[in-house]
Amino acid sequence: MITRSNALAALAADTFDVVVVGGGITGAGVALDAATRGYSVALVERSDYASGTSSRSSKLVHGGLRYLQNFDLGLVREALLERQINVKLAPHLVKPLPLVVAAFEGQRPDRLTGVGLNLYDVMSVERLRSRRPGRGGGPAVKEAHGALAIADLDGDGLADWSPDRHRVIPGEEVVERLPALAGRNPTSGYLFYDCQTDDARLVLTVLQEAERFGAVCCNGLEVTDLLDAGGRSSGVHVTDVVSGAAFAVRAQSVVNATGVWADRLRPEELHDEAEVPVIRPSRGTHLTLRHDQLPLVSGAIIPAGGGRSIFALPWLGGTLIGTTDNEVEPSEDPHSLDHVAPQPEDIAYLLDATNAYFGTSLAPADLAGAFAGVRPLISTGDPKKSVDISRKAELYETSSGMITITGGKLTTWRRMAKLAVDRLVEREARDAPCRTHEIPLGQAVGLDEMAQVEGVPEAAYAQLAGRYGHVAHEVLRIATERGEFAQPVVASDDPARPRPPDLLAEVVHAARHEQARTVGDALLRRTRLGLTAARDVAAPEGVTARRVAVAMARELGWDAARTETEAQAFLVEAAREGIVAG
Ligand SMILES: Cc1cc2nc3c(=O)[nH]c(=O)nc-3n(C[C@H](O)[C@H](O)[C@H](O)COP(=O)(O)OP(=O)(O)OC[C@H]3O[C@@H](n4cnc5c(N)ncnc54)[C@H](O)[C@@H]3O)c2cc1C
Repeated sequence: MITRSNALAALAADTFDVVVVGGGITGAGVALDAATRGYSVALVERSDYASGTSSRSSKLVHGGLRYLQNFDLGLVREALLERQINVKLAPHLVKPLPLVVAAFEGQRPDRLTGVGLNLYDVMSVERLRSRRPGRGGGPAVKEAHGALAIADLDGDGLADWSPDRHRVIPGEEVVERLPALAGRNPTSGYLFYDCQTDDARLVLTVLQEAERFGAVCCNGLEVTDLLDAGGRSSGVHVTDVVSGAAFAVRAQSVVNATGVWADRLRPEELHDEAEVPVIRPSRGTHLTLRHDQLPLVSGAIIPAGGGRSIFALPWLGGTLIGTTDNEVEPSEDPHSLDHVAPQPEDIAYLLDATNAYFGTSLAPADLAGAFAGVRPLISTGDPKKSVDISRKAELYETSSGMITITGGKLTTWRRMAKLAVDRLVEREARDAPCRTHEIPLGQAVGLDEMAQVEGVPEAAYAQLAGRYGHVAHEVLRIATERGEFAQPVVASDDPARPRPPDLLAEVVHAARHEQARTVGDALLRRTRLGLTAARDVAAPEGVTARRVAVAMARELGWDAARTETEAQAFLVEAAREGIVAG
């Protein structure tokens, strides 16, 4: 990405066609969509990219099997198509994930679940399966993770992916896929496929692609109001949270993509004119464990009482468990949603369900990390719980011309962006169709193409390839600059507790090329160590935080005092975010 100072200079000097407010997945998608249709685009994010909900999801790119219970067929169908498009555009970053629903004590897998999975199969693969070999279609190229990868079927130059149908698997295979379940002797199970990503890295990748098409993106810029030109918006007033400077970003159109904060920007306009239903934030908590504490090869669907279920998923070499779904009480405090920490009752709920299912006795003190986020759910006035509120996206255009797009899911980011930019195109009567379904997001890289760098642990290469695609070459080049850059960020001498392979070179890369400004930016969203190794990175002695701050200091020109302040600031942030549970 361009440096923040270059972005600031461009934002103050130029006039844009569109300014996008919010650097989560929705804003990033709008920036990419608008830029690829020929608009000049600015994007401003008040904190860090993906620091809102988009770094706090379950990381699934999925149709949402459980929404079938609500007969939300349109939503599931749309999300399944988007799942397929995401894998096609970013195969290194959005990957098929096998999931298992196990059955015990000689029972057959639940029949109703089977009915749901049949429907899921039909809705997800109808288009591709009809063109498979033997059914009049193109050549299959390989079986990847048991999910069929097919050569370019729609002629857009990109390989298409389509999952296998769900099937019943024997108990032994359930244990192979969910080793943590061995003690419970499962007798059989369903196996089906969804996809998984790294949400914050998906946001950064979409932003980088938008930038390639000319978008200017800057974090640490808070929009305080719209610029007014005779009742119509002509840009936004921003405050630089780093320098305190206030200035205007001029643009013909404003797109508000601020997620749960959407009704904080011009609330009277939104509520009076568009009758925007209230955004009802719902808190979702996740827990992480080391792989050896709860080993999983595939994901597991775990009953959690009251007809609800939770996931336990393999993610970045560890295990991710989630999620809860609790409505957040309305608050007068405008910052109440800025740092949402996991609550003890959420942690207990997730651990109770996990322990009951796997026969484990995991306690809060065992957790590698924990995090919470808030869903931007749109209340439909239905008094039911948030679990039943729609995950649909909503678009509002108000008298100032501001377009607000909120709700939705990580999976459907491209559809949401299209909805917003189609509206812009329509009102200007332009001829500019959406192209994001055919714009690759980054470029995948093969493990055999990557340079071997002395000191870089073996496990790092696959993670780098998945996280950065082709840009992994640049990270590895940085790793050769100094011996320590090739080392993992978290040091550990205990072979029984292998350290996550995230490299110090990634921290340098984040500060140099990805507008990371704080230790938290590097640990929570560029690498994901704040989630997968919270106990290590947020240890009170601050050894790791200091190590990261020193690596960033060289890039950002911090002196020794500032470096120490930044390391300490991360420890405060970690406490506020509640990433160390128990
Ligand atoms: C617990 C949980 C689990 C989930 N799991 C999944 C899942 O597995 N799969 C899936 O598809 N979806 C999932 N979701 C939903 C998904 O994460 C969200 O729908 C999505 O991330 C919302 O993105 P967004 O860009 O609209 O909002 P955000 O990511 O919140 O982005 C909005 C941004 O706007 C910025 N902002 C706010 N005000 C201003 C201002 N005045 N000026 C400048 N910037 C501002 C914020 O800082 C923020 O970065 C989950 C959500 C939660 C909470």
